[in-house]
Amino acid sequence: MLTGIHFLLSYKCDSECDHCFVYSSPRAAGTFTLEQMKGVFAELARIGTIESVYFEGGEPFLFYPLMCEGIRIARDTGFKTGIVTNAYWATSKEDAELWLKPLRDLGLSDLSISDDAFHYENEKVSPAKRALAAAVKLGMGYGSICIDRPTVEMGADSEIARGEPVIGGSTMLKGRAVEKLLEGLPRRPWDEFTECPYEDLRDPRRVHLDGYGNIHLCQGLSMGNMWETPLSELVKGYDADSHPICKPLVDGGPARLIQQYNVPHEDEYVDACHICYLARRALLDRFPQYLAPRLVYGL
Ligand code: SF4
Repeated sequence: MLTGIHFLLSYKCDSECDHCFVYSSPRAAGTFTLEQMKGVFAELARIGTIESVYFEGGEPFLFYPLMCEGIRIARDTGFKTGIVTNAYWATSKEDAELWLKPLRDLGLSDLSISDDAFHYENEKVSPAKRALAAAVKLGMGYGSICIDRPTVEMGADSEIARGEPVIGGSTMLKGRAVEKLLEGLPRRPWDEFTECPYEDLRDPRRVHLDGYGNIHLCQGLSMGNMWETPLSELVKGYDADSHPICKPLVDGGPARLIQQYNVPHEDEYVDACHICYLARRALLDRFPQYLAPRLVYGL
């Protein structure tokens, strides 16, 4: 049952991180208008099962008034609210409080702050740490997200016994990470990737919405376009078995997707997301309604 909606408020970001799986950058676009956002909220009421609404991106604080209005509407509708940010705006502790206090007063339920080497490699006291300190002082609910670079690590005992290295770090190998972070990582035969390890594509509990109308089940894997068919209709009518990309992924993972559509492929990949992302990119022109936007595929 779908309970969580995440607005990708914009693909624009002040940063351009190697691990970003939606290819955000200062040059990216795709920002929601206020009218579009209000239209989505009207559809959420029709869905009837939504409990929480998050604002992320890109960097949602780049569109601060729009984000605040979204939080206000969500709160007034009775939803829990959250924001995911890299805290670029926390230029001092005092400034961080200035940005956060209106959100505290709007009743923001959860502030998730990215605090990792991708964002703040060379900074002793990062903006993220300043933002966290300000959130504590203001009595806000908060958490930090720390994404490590993918590395080769010692495996669990059974894996060591088999002599198999495992990939450490929490980076997901899709989007820009596939372009930037694969070097030196061990690979496995393509036909071993027979399931999606992270997303429940049969019964999704949360989706991400973008300003182009896409309803992301996973980044760049869309349920359909909500500017063409109302969001509530798409959500209520969703059936993984009728979706040309989700069905093979549910039945047999990325390997099945490749087999079903005869996708040209390499012999080996690092993990399931690596092979899935590249297979989907190869299928973009065949399924433009379901594999979108092209921006998320670096195109
Ligand atoms: S990229 Fe593919 S395998 Fe990875 S979480 Fe998304 S749908 Fe699943």
